[in-house]
Amino acid sequence: AKQQGRSQHRFYSPEINARLQERLTVENELRGALERGEMVVYYQPLIDLRSRQITAVEALVRWQHPTRGLISPAKFIPIAEDNGLIISIGEWVLRTACEQNRTWQLAGMAPIRMSVNLSARQFEKPNLVEIVKQILQETELSALYLELEVTESFLMGDVQRSITTLKQLRELGLWLALDDFGTGYSSLNYLNRFPVNMLKIDQSFVQNVTSNSDSAAVTDAIIALAKSLQLKITAEGVETQEQLEYLEQRGCHEGQGYYFGIPAPAEKITELLKLNSQQ
Ligand code: C2E
Ligand code: CA
Ligand code: CA
Ligand code: CA
Repeated sequence: AKQQGRSQHRFYSPEINARLQERLTVENELRGALERGEMVVYYQPLIDLRSRQITAVEALVRWQHPTRGLISPAKFIPIAEDNGLIISIGEWVLRTACEQNRTWQLAGMAPIRMSVNLSARQFEKPNLVEIVKQILQETELSALYLELEVTESFLMGDVQRSITTLKQLRELGLWLALDDFGTGYSSLNYLNRFPVNMLKIDQSFVQNVTSNSDSAAVTDAIIALAKSLQLKITAEGVETQEQLEYLEQRGCHEGQGYYFGIPAPAEKITELLKLNSQQ
């Protein structure tokens, strides 16, 4: 009886009700947002810590809502994952990002990798490898300049199947990165069985690396692990000179974060790439 009372209370809570309403509204408006041209891709630079050159950009989707402004992916990606819209949104982001990278190459910029996030739903689709292959062909981008980001949490669902899919993606010639590393299952047993090229240290560690000895210890351990497995290592969420110096000293290869540049529309990145190509 007590439990029933509690769930009733929950159901009628005005706060929860408002949140449900908000979610329903987002869900309704999200349908058709892609077709109405409301999705935009921003790009954030990844910097080689030695040469200080831009070596890659990460594609990060935003929703340019007609009245509510620019909406963060944290607000709508989880919903799109639940209702399956992430399949079409994700495919559109991949095509747009590959096209953009090809456009930069044709404009004479020094070539960089384009890194694109995959969601669990996309990864589960049996035609994923075919779609990636087709988009590379359509956009005439060499697979050498595409990187896909996956997370441990969804690789751990069906490990054997994940390994097979990752291998097939690698056979296309592209790069694979394990995103948000250190936050998930920390499946160290599986790490050397997943054929990935790089680890991205989660920003929660990077942001405390100079203020908290535990974060520093975890970061050091991840860098050492990546090196022993001969994986490239990127630090996410680099915001200060001190964090940069720490990571550089430990031999981290690449950095990404507000210190180097916030995610920005393609035109803004074009300006940075022009400077990058002159050096
Ligand atoms: P993520 O893949 O871990 O991307 C990094 C997030 O950290 C981005 O947030 C980025 O703007 C933010 N960030 C970068 N540097 C800094 C920094 O120095 N400090 C802080 N505090 N944050 C920084 P964003 O763009 O809001 O994206 C959030 C998440 O949404 C992404 O996390 C990713 O999981 C998801 N997402 C974004 N675009 C896509 C997409 O096209 N497909 C899928 N499946 N997920 C996406
Ligand atoms: Ca990512
Ligand atoms: Ca990440
Ligand atoms: Ca994340």
